[in-house]
Amino acid sequence: MRFGGNTSCVEMRTADTLVIIDCGSGLHNLGRALAQSGECVRGHILITHTHWDHIQGIPFFGPFFRSGNEWDVYAPKGLGQSLHDTLAGQMQYVYFPVRLDQMGAKIRYHELVEGDFRVGDIKVRTQYLNHTALTLGYRLEADGAAVVYSTDHEPFSRHLASGKGPIQGQDRRHCEFLACADLVIHDAQYTLSEYADKVGWGHSTFDYAVAMCREAKAARVALTHHDPTRTDYAIEAIVSGIRSEEANATAGLDVFAAAEGQRLDLQPTERAIVSDQAPLSSTPALATPLILLAVKDPVAANTIRGAAHEDGIAMLEAGAEDEALSTATTAQPSLVILEWGPKTADVLAREDLTMRNIPILVVADEEHLSAKAVSDWLIRPFSSAYARTRIRACLLRTTCRWERALTSQNEEQRLASLHGLGILDTPPEERFDRITRLAASIFNAPMASISLVDRDRQWFKSSYGLEAVESSRETSFCSHAVAAQDVLVIPDAFQDPRFSDNPLVTGWPRIRFYAGCPIFVGPDCIGTVCVLDNRPRQIDENSLSLLRDLAALAELELRKPQSLNE
Ligand SMILES: [Zn+2]
Ligand SMILES: [Zn+2]
Repeated sequence: MRFGGNTSCVEMRTADTLVIIDCGSGLHNLGRALAQSGECVRGHILITHTHWDHIQGIPFFGPFFRSGNEWDVYAPKGLGQSLHDTLAGQMQYVYFPVRLDQMGAKIRYHELVEGDFRVGDIKVRTQYLNHTALTLGYRLEADGAAVVYSTDHEPFSRHLASGKGPIQGQDRRHCEFLACADLVIHDAQYTLSEYADKVGWGHSTFDYAVAMCREAKAARVALTHHDPTRTDYAIEAIVSGIRSEEANATAGLDVFAAAEGQRLDLQPTERAIVSDQAPLSSTPALATPLILLAVKDPVAANTIRGAAHEDGIAMLEAGAEDEALSTATTAQPSLVILEWGPKTADVLAREDLTMRNIPILVVADEEHLSAKAVSDWLIRPFSSAYARTRIRACLLRTTCRWERALTSQNEEQRLASLHGLGILDTPPEERFDRITRLAASIFNAPMASISLVDRDRQWFKSSYGLEAVESSRETSFCSHAVAAQDVLVIPDAFQDPRFSDNPLVTGWPRIRFYAGCPIFVGPDCIGTVCVLDNRPRQIDENSLSLLRDLAALAELELRKPQSLNE
């Protein structure tokens, strides 16, 4: 009754940004509250993972049905099905009368890996949690305050369930993710005695959650994702036990249980702002991931084979560590999985694999902290779902390094100029199609477009050889040309770290070559005329000046009042 009969859903607001984290059953009431104002809503939704208790509110979320509302939905990138398909799955005909695509609001989907991005005035950092599905924790910073949302999550090292003992490895990394937060919302599903039967279920104990927040010097922790059979009374008793312990501690962590409808105001403290870190470095994305497996334990090896098979990942098998090492030299796998043995530390010390930046996942009975070259551990016994999650995390952590273009300082003015044209979402027009046809023909390229860079998308006023009407700004090439306000030429996207594993390069439409020339309205760069090819190529000065001419023509057309063209 008090601590919530609903599943996970949290609303967060800054002066001008609305963020919802997780879409559990609590989303229904939140939707009703949002609809009460009667105004259009623009918001962002961060989903930690797509287990049912975190997405089941979506079909019942009123603001998705209303046209004029705009939503950006973010969730961890999977290896197979897209986010949209996963969410649409629970709204198939047999389950629900309205399909996801029939909802009136404009909904955009974004798939995330570990890293940093922005929504409105909020800086968001993501980090993988330890759960039975690939799950992201979110750290949000705005106005000098930091909030971390961290559920569903289990201690990486099981001894830490007691909240005692050294914090190392992945748990240390988790702790750094929570560092100095003004508020942490943390998984606390089990008591320590319950946890003994729930190892590997992907959830924390009260003790672990509090110990991590204490170590991280967080100011407050809201304990959540309680066991469904726990009563309000039991939660109160546990929390008051922790609070009286905490009263004697010097750091003074404020511990409470998150309650239904509870509202907290966070004041700027400037205690917690993470400085810009170096981007995640890595090997280029491989179109098809390949795992090299050197695990003799038949049970573990079979579980891993099954997990890889479920995700359609190819696997090469090596007999022993030495063999794995020599095979890796030629086979270039995206991940090596070894079994811990007496020689493993020596093999890893040779650094042949680590020098190649190939991640190494080691199957063992416990973590061997001396083995620094290990990217991650699979501690026995583990389920197939757990192995699958660790494999996905290893592969995804190392495969993404493409960059979203920066937004300029006068972004709002730029958007005002673009919107002032009244051109967005208008039907195709011959006067623009003529320009993209010419561009494709002059460059002998299969694709060309007039792309206008909106707040969160690029929209094509005209496109030749491309079926899409718009695509996400996250992956947009044109957005880079707009940011630079200059011609952008990418002779071979595979060779350019900003684009080599961009989803538009590794997947459809498989861009290898890009040349884009900016279009201006007054001082504001609003988009480009661009040509694209599936082959790498060079471009000479003469062709480049023709591209500039085409951009100038597009500019003229865009400035013409609509009435002149009818
Ligand atoms: Zn879950
Ligand atoms: Zn959950």
